[in-house]
Amino acid sequence: MHYREVAGSREFVAQLAHGDDWRSQIEDFAAHEGVEAAFFVGLGAVQDATIWYYDQDRQAYDEVVFAEPLEVASCVGNLSDLDGEPFAHTHAVLSRRDGSTLAGHLDAATTFAGELYVRTFEEPLVRTHDEPTDLDLWDL
Ligand code: ZN
Repeated sequence: MHYREVAGSREFVAQLAHGDDWRSQIEDFAAHEGVEAAFFVGLGAVQDATIWYYDQDRQAYDEVVFAEPLEVASCVGNLSDLDGEPFAHTHAVLSRRDGSTLAGHLDAATTFAGELYVRTFEEPLVRTHDEPTDLDLWDL
């Protein structure tokens, strides 16, 4: 395990815009506010969702698109730098009308309504290629 101490300096609450992409809004916010590192939590509802699943054997993402209204029962993620741009690594637990859930790495989703809490860190977090996983992970 690699780690380092960080200090939080800024907090935000946000209401995500109806009709806009869930994750892009968070990245746009980070770029606008100059946020280079943060954790966030959120909840709300989306009109559709694209979930990625990382196949560890193939070291490749598989995509599943859900073209249906879903509750965002829980969303957790972080902001860091990927190739010089803010990247919102976003995971979500989404629920259907009957209460059943699906979950995973949220690539995209059309926001119906969303509420977000963001806690920033003063120290930038930068993603670099990680050999064993073939993922872009934090360079700590
Ligand atoms: Zn992920």
